[in-house]
Amino acid sequence: MADQSREIPYKIYLEEKEMPRQWYNVRADMKNKPEPLLNPGTRQPMTAEELSAVFCDELVQQELDDINPYIDIPQEILDFYKMYRPSPLVRAYCLEEKLDTPAKIYYKFEGNNTSGSHKLNSAIAQAYYAKKQGLRGVTTETGAGQWGTALSMACAYLGLDCKVYMVKCSYEQKPFRREVMRTYGASVTPSPSDTTQVGRKILAEHPDTTGSLGCAISEAVEAAMGTEGYRYVLGSVLNQVMLHQSVIGMETKIAMDKYGITPDVIIGCAGGGSNLGGLISPFMGEVLRGEKNYRFIAVEPASCPSLTRGRFAYDFCDTGMVTPLAKMYTLGSGFIPSASHAGGLRYHGMSPVLSRLYHDGMMEAVSVEQTSVFEAAVLFARVEGILPAPESSHAIRVAIDQALRCRETGEEKTIVFGLTGTGYFDMFAYERYNNGEMSDYIPTEEELAAGFAGLPKMD
Ligand SMILES: *Cc1c(COP(=O)(O)O)cnc(C)c1O
Repeated sequence: MADQSREIPYKIYLEEKEMPRQWYNVRADMKNKPEPLLNPGTRQPMTAEELSAVFCDELVQQELDDINPYIDIPQEILDFYKMYRPSPLVRAYCLEEKLDTPAKIYYKFEGNNTSGSHKLNSAIAQAYYAKKQGLRGVTTETGAGQWGTALSMACAYLGLDCKVYMVKCSYEQKPFRREVMRTYGASVTPSPSDTTQVGRKILAEHPDTTGSLGCAISEAVEAAMGTEGYRYVLGSVLNQVMLHQSVIGMETKIAMDKYGITPDVIIGCAGGGSNLGGLISPFMGEVLRGEKNYRFIAVEPASCPSLTRGRFAYDFCDTGMVTPLAKMYTLGSGFIPSASHAGGLRYHGMSPVLSRLYHDGMMEAVSVEQTSVFEAAVLFARVEGILPAPESSHAIRVAIDQALRCRETGEEKTIVFGLTGTGYFDMFAYERYNNGEMSDYIPTEEELAAGFAGLPKMD
């Protein structure tokens, strides 16, 4: 057993009066701002008015705000946050002992709510602004199911309708995720479906497709635009989502400052980039303002490597090419990861804010193969007790690798990583790993070239 007599608590919880009351908008401190969303027809920046057809008005303001560093969290959202926040910042004493490393490892655990991930932080904010605007409901997509679950919880709390388009392979592999959403009152449709034009078109072209996030986004946007009193909401990628997720980083920073802990390396998994962006935001702000220096590492699956092998280009956010264009690291909106990929983080693109920071050399990125991710997940579960989500386990993998490097060099680095959620609904994936049936798939250059060929021509 690890020695438990120590001055840093095993779990650091903030007191209610120490909780952040504002989100931090890292764009305000960026010299090179992320590029604006473009109207795919005119190729001009999307105006607030155009965006309001799809998104709630106040969220449009947040999306376009590159200026204000702090944005007040409305009291109603603070009250909801109190139901499951603060989330603990945990010192991974047992993992450190297991790895026999001089490194100090901390993780910020976002899985302590029924939806099982950080996604609730933005779901409640987006549902709140929809309700405040007097809307009837919202539509969305969900891949692995965590976002759809979080949004259903938030909508149930506020009395809003919630229509979820769920990527077909997850709908089939994760029936209990679907049932949790229905329990919270959401309607759940496997995507692609025949309920939308774009879904019917995709089905006609690819009858056997298992679906993708990009495809479910197209359907959810169409459903929102075609239903009175509805707007569309998205669980990652967008600037507004990263803003809401900054609550993760704010809490982490307040907790670390309280105990005089300074991180050397901050690590997070990157799907659409919102959790990592949220975790690193206040720390990145210090670097951007020239006050501090930290290493930031984004971890992505080798089977869906948008940062490490993608292009920094304007692209559609969806497969059906109905959304605005975003300048981001992307594999092309037509890219669909191998069906053998079980670890989540399947999105073809990446947050424009993180893309910009990565492009400017402010952040590193690595890709990891899924068998090594599950190996890290199992090791972590056995010593720290928490059964991690496969997505989160990408960050665990790299945190372990960094800690092992410290064992070689003797450096006492402080490593912080985002443990975004729990993996109770991912037991088919764990089963494959435990049976030795999991394989790694790395797309070939030719497969990636096919995705890049679909990028919109921009001149
Ligand atoms: C959605 C999700 C992710 C990916 O988050 P992004 O913010 O899109 O990068 C990671 N972990 C868990 C548990 C998730 O549910």
